[in-house]
Amino acid sequence: MMKHGAKFACTHAKTVHAGLGQHNLTQDTRGLTPSRIFTCSTARYFSATSLPLNRNRDQEGIHNSGKKLFTPGPLCTSKTVKEAMLLDYGSRDTTFIETVKYIREKLLDVAGVDPSQYTCVPLQGSGTYALEAVISSTVPRQGGKVLVLANGAYGMRVSRICKAHNIDHVLCRFPDEEKVRVEVVEEALKQDTFTNVSIVHCETSSGVINPVEDVGLLLKRYTDATYFVDAMSSFGAIPLDMVACGVDYLVSSANKCIEGIPGFSYVIANREKLFNSKGWSRTLSFDLVEQCEGLDQNGQFRFTPPTHVMLAFKQALIELEQEGGVKGRARRYKENRSVLRDGMTKLGFRELLDDSHRGYIITSYHFPNDPNFDFKTFYTRLGDLDQVIYPGKMTEVDCFRIGNIGHLFPADMRKLLDCIEHVCNEMRLKIPIVG
Ligand SMILES: *Cc1c(COP(=O)(O)O)cnc(C)c1O
Repeated sequence: MMKHGAKFACTHAKTVHAGLGQHNLTQDTRGLTPSRIFTCSTARYFSATSLPLNRNRDQEGIHNSGKKLFTPGPLCTSKTVKEAMLLDYGSRDTTFIETVKYIREKLLDVAGVDPSQYTCVPLQGSGTYALEAVISSTVPRQGGKVLVLANGAYGMRVSRICKAHNIDHVLCRFPDEEKVRVEVVEEALKQDTFTNVSIVHCETSSGVINPVEDVGLLLKRYTDATYFVDAMSSFGAIPLDMVACGVDYLVSSANKCIEGIPGFSYVIANREKLFNSKGWSRTLSFDLVEQCEGLDQNGQFRFTPPTHVMLAFKQALIELEQEGGVKGRARRYKENRSVLRDGMTKLGFRELLDDSHRGYIITSYHFPNDPNFDFKTFYTRLGDLDQVIYPGKMTEVDCFRIGNIGHLFPADMRKLLDCIEHVCNEMRLKIPIVG
């Protein structure tokens, strides 16, 4: 879960690169703590915990099967995925070890990479844990310098991880509702030398899809820096040719588009790069090389594995395959997205991103420009109808988000739209909404 109520500290950074318009690269004088360069206003977050619990409203006949999560995670999962957890296995159990092996192999298959070149390293913890494992294990201890490409909260998280480990980095910050711009990255590469470059595939705080391929091809021309992609909310649903664009490390987690249960994350890693990083880890638990070596040697995690979650994930991978793999899943999410878009447009809601964005993971909507609108009420009443949407994570614009991912289908999107219309009427918002 993301932290609600969190505000980013804004410090003034020295702009070290000129001529990049407002897409500046910033770095403070010590080089270790770059900071945001765009004005931060306090975003309107709401604490989920302060909202009333869902009451049984069966009398309204609106729901019958628990909450539907239209969020960036945790996400809805199938009944069969949940049922796969009903068995207890020890960490040395051969069935469990085979499950881990199956998962590692299958993920390479989903990624479309050759097992002789890439390996898959699962790690206990949510997605951020794997991001931290990659950053803290694969940046050289001597002379390491990361170029962090960020256009939202998740890109900024990589910068925060660098800071926490005192890793030298330059932050290249783009506006939240825009893609990372390749020509700005090129400028950065001309001006400095980096050992690692990071980017987010789908910036889930807005829904922007970044040009991971174009940036990868650019890197190939300029540098042999290690290329790291946070594909948390896109892996399994948005195709990405890791080999063609030279991605060395890709991170995702169990409970995003693969639709498993939250509890572990995984790294798809270029073997050569990974094993060259031996000894660079700043921590014990997050040591990606040791985690991988442990798994390779005896098929076991170094420390207590999330056994039930792994069993569920195997089932989730089987269901992904049954749906037609990445293509099939993309088809369903795109359909969800298109039902949502049509319905919300009809109601008058305005999207944050312009038409040049083609993402189908999550959509940000401006708050209605109506004196009767109050997000907390909107959110709570939808929650009472078992429809869980999400506050925005933008720093400068008031918006909310609706996710299409997880075990959701077009019928769920239509139901959500009905509930949104119902709540708008209850709140006496003028329809069509003026966004
Ligand atoms: C969900 C997500 C994360 C990880 O968040 P956790 O709460 O640690 O699982 C990181 N990056 C992106 C783009 C995400 O969507």
